[in-house]
Amino acid sequence: MENKERIVYLNGEFVPESEAKISVYDSALMFGDMIFEMTRSFNKKQFKLREHLQRLYNSAKYLEIDMPLSMIEMEQKVHEVVNKNDVYFQGDDEHRIMIDVTRGLLSIYQSVDQRAGTNIIITDFPLKWTVRNMGKLYEQGINLVIPSQRNIPASLLEPKVKNRSRIHYLKANLEVSKYAGENNWALLLDPDGFITEGTGCNFFIVKSGKLITSEPRNILRGISRDYVFELAYKLGIPCVEKNIEPYDIYTADEAFVTGTPFCILPVNSLFNTKIGEKTPGLVTSLLLKTWSDCVNVNVVEQIQDWNSQDAKLSGVSPYSVEK
Ligand code: PMP
Repeated sequence: MENKERIVYLNGEFVPESEAKISVYDSALMFGDMIFEMTRSFNKKQFKLREHLQRLYNSAKYLEIDMPLSMIEMEQKVHEVVNKNDVYFQGDDEHRIMIDVTRGLLSIYQSVDQRAGTNIIITDFPLKWTVRNMGKLYEQGINLVIPSQRNIPASLLEPKVKNRSRIHYLKANLEVSKYAGENNWALLLDPDGFITEGTGCNFFIVKSGKLITSEPRNILRGISRDYVFELAYKLGIPCVEKNIEPYDIYTADEAFVTGTPFCILPVNSLFNTKIGEKTPGLVTSLLLKTWSDCVNVNVVEQIQDWNSQDAKLSGVSPYSVEK
């Protein structure tokens, strides 16, 4: 029978998605003990792959997870996965690569299962499934809601390590999904009451022509956040990292969030109180346009086209929870 399944890289082999399996005794299942990266392509070319890999290898170093592949080898495996799967990607589909790395079997289970050691998993998914229903957000903007669930500070669990111990993010999303109205996204405070990030994105405000983003202390330092620094530099827009309080958001001229799948999304309001004059704001629009120009893909139109092409995909996004 012809193979219709996408191909996954798993520990040195390329296998069909449904056959890619790891042990039920894996440390990831026991402790959430794993790290990951998600990258996307523009025109099918992975964006900032090296930067994502650098963050992955930094995460591995911090958690003392042995990496059986060098960074160059990992990069090659990613390209192989993309090449093997391209046949299943139609038209303007983009490749969303997920690299999952688990520590592997806990030692007490090693007699039960021979597959000890680090698991490296590289999967490839059409990006349009991750950004379903997001197209309208470029015009409407999101409404930020600060849940009672706080972010965990670096002194308790290092958020710069991109890890899957993410129950606090899930709890925040559960809480925010009960908030009335549409387009509600969680924005988390640290224990001192300063803004950190969303459950899958970093946060910026614009005030008097200047970009302000949270200090890099209690957040995942996003690759998209870094890219906004690059774009701002190119455009001559000053950018600072400093403590942001909810008050600063209410009184900002604009706000937006950044993340790999959608690049930049405008924020319309905080607890339904409008921020600035219009959504998206001028600086937000300029950054999005410059990003699109630099990667040669109209980021907004591409996502809006995907959303309109396939109504089935207009369900809930990974950034919200539906019961
Ligand atoms: N913060 C968190 C908690 C995230 O999960 C993500 C996306 N994975 C980000 C920020 C944004 O990071 P990036 O720009 O590298 O996608």
